[in-house]
Amino acid sequence: MIYKQIKYFLITIFLIGITPVFYFLGAYQSELDSIQFQRQNAAKHQINYSQKEVYSIASQLGTSLKLLSDNRVLLQFIQKPSLKNRELLESLWALTVTNYSYISQVRFIGVDGKEISRINEDNNKATVTPSNELQDKSNRDYFIYAQTLKANTLGFFGIDLEIEHGKIVIPPKPSLRIFTPIEIDNERKGYLFFNLDIYEIVARVEASLEAGYQLEFINEEGYYLASQDKYKTLGHLISERDSYNVLIETPELWRKMKTQNVGEFYDNQFFYSFSKIKLDGDVGSSSLYLILTSDNSLEITNLDHKLTFIIYESIMAMIFIITISIVIARYIAKHRTTSLESQLALAALNGMSAIVITDKNNRIIKVNEEFTRLSGWREEDVIGRTPSMFQSGKHNKDFYSVMWQTIQSEGLWEGEIINKRKDGNLLTKILRIQAICNHDSKKEYFIASFFDITERKELENRLRELSEKDSLTQCWNRRRFECELSNIIANDSFPKEIESSCLAIIDIDYFKRINDKYGHDIGDKVITEVGRILGEESRHNDFVARIGGEEFAIILPNTQLQEAEIILNRLRIAVNLYIDIKVTISGGITDICNSREASYKRADLALYESKTAGRDQISCFSSDEMAQIA
Ligand code: GH3
Ligand code: MG
Ligand code: MG
Repeated sequence: MIYKQIKYFLITIFLIGITPVFYFLGAYQSELDSIQFQRQNAAKHQINYSQKEVYSIASQLGTSLKLLSDNRVLLQFIQKPSLKNRELLESLWALTVTNYSYISQVRFIGVDGKEISRINEDNNKATVTPSNELQDKSNRDYFIYAQTLKANTLGFFGIDLEIEHGKIVIPPKPSLRIFTPIEIDNERKGYLFFNLDIYEIVARVEASLEAGYQLEFINEEGYYLASQDKYKTLGHLISERDSYNVLIETPELWRKMKTQNVGEFYDNQFFYSFSKIKLDGDVGSSSLYLILTSDNSLEITNLDHKLTFIIYESIMAMIFIITISIVIARYIAKHRTTSLESQLALAALNGMSAIVITDKNNRIIKVNEEFTRLSGWREEDVIGRTPSMFQSGKHNKDFYSVMWQTIQSEGLWEGEIINKRKDGNLLTKILRIQAICNHDSKKEYFIASFFDITERKELENRLRELSEKDSLTQCWNRRRFECELSNIIANDSFPKEIESSCLAIIDIDYFKRINDKYGHDIGDKVITEVGRILGEESRHNDFVARIGGEEFAIILPNTQLQEAEIILNRLRIAVNLYIDIKVTISGGITDICNSREASYKRADLALYESKTAGRDQISCFSSDEMAQIA
């Protein structure tokens, strides 16, 4: 049953659930796509914004550089480098570097490459470099490049590491330099330099981004110039970091970056948005890439409301479908079982045995075809009546009361019973009556099923008779006689006060002579005739048996000795009157006591008495007489 329910459940849930599953999967996927699309759009927007921010910072710095280069204070200092003018200049610059946190140095370098004035910025604090610490930068590549610039032009020099006194600053500090030549009256006086702190610029741009994005600056070779993860940066300058390169890490992305200025790329984990930035000086230019990275994998907890709602909706739908499926599966399983049960019941009802169903008042409510076939009664003849209509009179009241007591106490009775058919014939059957109880254990119905054993019974009776009857005379044989005598002794209680049963033994007189005179066949015929006369002339209940060659015994139930003597004499006379041949019989009678042997012995003694007294007579020998003798 449970397996059936599971089977129906699976089928039902499949049939009902398949459409919603596809619907929700589709809705989920399209929502996911839409979220992805939104994210990509947002990322594109962010990279644009970042790019603008970088350009804006660059233009601000360019403007600042121009302003400072044209500033009167600087020109005054160049023309007249007095202490006062130097202080004036340095305080102006200090103001500038503290204003722009990403300017880490402002320097004025003479045409010979020697630093003339320099302000460092660190942690928003400006420090003036003492004149004895000013360095000669004439050999640095950026200075060599600066010399090539025309007046009023701006130069950028790519990002590299800060070097002080010929040594790389530790920790490595990438910086970008912008500069412009300073000329007075067309005479070059030196160069104004800004050193820009790349980390600060990245931090500044990143600060304007929404959460979840990471910004990185990549140079034209794919190395990181700036990243939150500082250890990845400057692989082109620091040999142990040279594996941190976009070309190595995400070659697909790098290929795309090489072919287009703006674009995006995503793999399973990240979404990348990139943009190429050209920092154009008036002469030459420097390029770098911005890469904006965001996590591409969607965490369930971070999903937007719509997606959460779809998941919630699908869970609710699934719970609903599962519930419906359970109900349907249970219904189908039960319905199929019930219909199977009713089919079985119907098949059983019209099966092998005849069936009579009665209600609690024992009124017939249903019979089957087999019943009609066996009993001859049709359904309309018996409905509403009680089964007592089938009684044959072969059983007494006790039989029926025991039957009903058994049904009441045990709910079941089984046994052999003789009923009457509609045509009056008898029907011997094996009957089984079963009570059907309701929930309160009260008997609601009785189902009587039976099958006909009439023929079998007749055959059985015939066979038994054959085995118990004497073939010559058709009287009972000796074996049956012994049984009958034993039964009488077993069933009667002794000593008997009112009525006892009697036993008579009869022997044909001088039978040898008959045999001798007429032959054995005639002798047989005489035996047969004597048996017939004894049977016919005795009473209905008397039991006549041939117990030896020409010896008979008669059991006379519930008969007094005197009465038995009268009956026996009547039989003796009947044999006397036997027509063809003169035949006489002698008999001995006794009352049957509690011993078979003793009873037989007494009857035999009485017979002996008849023989010795001249034959053709009946003698009695009662148990009382026997007791007296003993
Ligand atoms: P009694 O008056 O003393 O009884 O004399 P009886 O000649 O009848 O003697 P008994 O009863 O002892 O002898 C019985 C004889 O019956 C012996 C046997 O030859 C004969 N007999 C026994 N069975 C059969 C039988 O089935 N058929 C025939 N024809 N004769 C039988
Ligand atoms: Mg004899
Ligand atoms: Mg004899």
